[in-house]
Amino acid sequence: MYPRIAWAEARTGERIIVSNVSVIPMDVAGVIAGRDIVIADGRIAAILPHGESVAEPGDERVDGSGLFVMPGLWDMHTHIAASDNASAPNPADLPPDIARMLITDRLARYLRHGVTGVRDLGMRRDLLPLAAELRARRDLPHMVYAGPLIDGSPVPWSSGLEIHLERPEDAAALIAELAGEGIDFVKVYNRVTPEVFAAVTAAARDNGLPVAGHIPFAVSTRDAVAAGMTWIEHGYVNLFKDCTEAGNSAMTSVLGAWMEGGYEARYRRFDALYAGRDATACRALYSEMGEAGVFVAPTPHLDLPLDLFVGEVELAELSPAARASCATGLGQFADIPADLRARMIANLTEHYRELRAAGVRFLAGSDAPTDCQGYGRSLHQALEFFVRLGLTPHEALATATVNPALALGREDIGRVREGARADLLFLSANPLEDIANIHAVAAVMLGGAWVGQAAQPR
Ligand SMILES: [Zn+2]
Repeated sequence: MYPRIAWAEARTGERIIVSNVSVIPMDVAGVIAGRDIVIADGRIAAILPHGESVAEPGDERVDGSGLFVMPGLWDMHTHIAASDNASAPNPADLPPDIARMLITDRLARYLRHGVTGVRDLGMRRDLLPLAAELRARRDLPHMVYAGPLIDGSPVPWSSGLEIHLERPEDAAALIAELAGEGIDFVKVYNRVTPEVFAAVTAAARDNGLPVAGHIPFAVSTRDAVAAGMTWIEHGYVNLFKDCTEAGNSAMTSVLGAWMEGGYEARYRRFDALYAGRDATACRALYSEMGEAGVFVAPTPHLDLPLDLFVGEVELAELSPAARASCATGLGQFADIPADLRARMIANLTEHYRELRAAGVRFLAGSDAPTDCQGYGRSLHQALEFFVRLGLTPHEALATATVNPALALGREDIGRVREGARADLLFLSANPLEDIANIHAVAAVMLGGAWVGQAAQPR
């Protein structure tokens, strides 16, 4: 099931020809060097051997020599309207103009990093009108969003983004109302009961909405997938809890260890669950997920010590308040022993390999602004980490391009080919050779228009 997406259409008008670029199409492997790309009416009108494009009066012609062009990236797990530190109010509680400015600034940051689309995994319901307004704008990234999380009984660490749904008989009306308010998919959360989960997935289906989220603590992975939950967030223990002895209590046991003994205890519990799993049963489960067409946004920074991901450069991307609380919070990871770190990286690498071998497709997600993740750069970093965890650079880039297009059922994004939207990222170095080159943003185009004034190459 695909969301019915209502984003702004590409602009029409002048043609742009970018000549002599190296194309990274993403729907096929490799690089095609020496091409002229013709952009018209917000789309890629033609991709020609260099020199074969003919400029007409009024066309803008740009020398793309030395540049690589790939599809604009998608951050498939973000929260554009969450507060970025514990002391900041939710944007819904700010004056409307301030909230609009804050969220617009975040989306503009995304664009400057070559992120031309985002999937939002939870914002307060009273922000849905603002979200609808912003996604109708042509100068901001495409947005698909879940609106409020659907959760069960309130918990102490409530984020305020959720609606508590405790009676299955209330699900149909709620989901229909949210569909009317413009959500593109439904996000379920940890504390939903099996009965409410069944009612929510049925209501989502009735409204033509995909179901995403955390696999609820009380629902097995197999049952969640069978009920039609094909977009799974975060993963790791949630993805293999069925093939551990702990079963559905695996996730709560990890959280319990964390509450009692901090991060080292949390990672040790992860490690013990992983080591004790029934690997054959796990692979059978992953195959069922692959056959069901499951997409996972694994957000590896949640499963590894955060100080691997956040240093000076990353802190500098955050708001001053978030920077201050992150700088302090990172101290919690200082004592995690090197051998435990190495084992966790090895576990995750193997886990990812088995999921991919079973046909489970990965989506890149930053989970910004939580866990010190800034908007934009942290997505680049997520791609770098995928490579560190065993994906090839092409597989990593696919998690932010072709895989999002497949998840959203769109053939006109996530690829550089004739007819696709001209949502393009121009890099000054080849990310297939070194994934770190994803940071080398030279220019960004959204719907056939250059983003920013200085962004235009040369
Ligand atoms: Zn999230």
